[in-house]
Amino acid sequence: NQQILLANRPEGLPTKETFEFREIPIEKPKDGQVVVKTLYLSVDPYMRGRMNAGKSYVEPYAINAPISGGIVGEIVESRSEKLKAGDKVQGSLNWQLYNTVDAAAVRKIENTNVPLSAYLSVLGMTGLTAYFGLLDIGQPKEGETVVVSGAAGAVGSTVGQIAKIKGAKVVGIAGSDEKIKYLENELGFDKGINYKTTDHLQKALEEACPNGVDVYFDNVGGSVSDAVLNCLNDFARIPLCGAISSYNADENEDFGPRIQPKLLKTHSMIKGFIVGDYSNDFARGIQDLAEWLSQGKLKYKETIVEGFENVPDAFLGLFEGKNLGKQLVKVSEP
Ligand code: NDP
Repeated sequence: NQQILLANRPEGLPTKETFEFREIPIEKPKDGQVVVKTLYLSVDPYMRGRMNAGKSYVEPYAINAPISGGIVGEIVESRSEKLKAGDKVQGSLNWQLYNTVDAAAVRKIENTNVPLSAYLSVLGMTGLTAYFGLLDIGQPKEGETVVVSGAAGAVGSTVGQIAKIKGAKVVGIAGSDEKIKYLENELGFDKGINYKTTDHLQKALEEACPNGVDVYFDNVGGSVSDAVLNCLNDFARIPLCGAISSYNADENEDFGPRIQPKLLKTHSMIKGFIVGDYSNDFARGIQDLAEWLSQGKLKYKETIVEGFENVPDAFLGLFEGKNLGKQLVKVSEP
């Protein structure tokens, strides 16, 4: 067995030295426990926040302790009546090849008609984040204009498609021409804007959104959001989902967006949310997402890196925009 520990708290961008691999035995299961073999492991931007000390909505990772996150795995040994060897499960588990946990720590995956990895992407945490943030806070109406940043990532690509399903016009902001092509040609976005190459993001947005912006789903913060917030219509809604542009910044650093006058002038509403706020409604979200998937209204991509040894690289790649759709690591075959 092997695990990945947090070796130290990174300052700025983490490096390979932030992580340490350690050999450990596979723990024997006690009564009520199961041994889960990791098949797919999710790396997520929020994990960067957990590498810092200090209180947030989830506990910080401890130094010299395993990092944890979303995992899809297979039961290889069971001492619980609830699960048997061969069952596929998902849960928040340690970054290990094998986890020995109480059966209640994982949920069985009943529907195996979709690829298992989807339970860490479009039918998992990121799909639900898009679904609840957009529909509950953004509330896009037919004919309105929705702008989403981080548009080609796991959350953003789902947000844009749900907004299209609801009849909105959708503009996505992302960081490469390949991503823009994917948004426009494969996901049906009305327009994509490459924030890294455009001369003037606000002008490009004004051209792409002649009727202004009614919903801004913010995944990135910083100067991208400054530009979008200058295009708000009256009574715009802003689901504040993430701010990846500042995750590696010093907390004393001065980063945008500057929002107060912009929100005031446009009577707009911004609301931060954490996907767990909606945990009582997850079943409904998964049902709708699965239905749109089966109807072909919702598509998804995953960037899958192979091998447990590549988990740190896959995580670090998120901050370089290496992923199209959800970044996952395939750790082993079922
Ligand atoms: P993504 O799949 O979107 O991956 C991250 C992407 O962010 C990269 O591909 C990159 O794309 C972009 N990015 C990286 N650095 C910057 C930067 N400095 N400025 C602008 N864009 C950048 O990740 P997720 O879909 O998992 O997460 C998206 C956001 O949602 C994150 O901020 C995350 O923290 C947040 N989140 C919030 C949740 C909640 O409950 N509130 C739950 C899940 C996610 P590009 O090439 O376009 O730069």
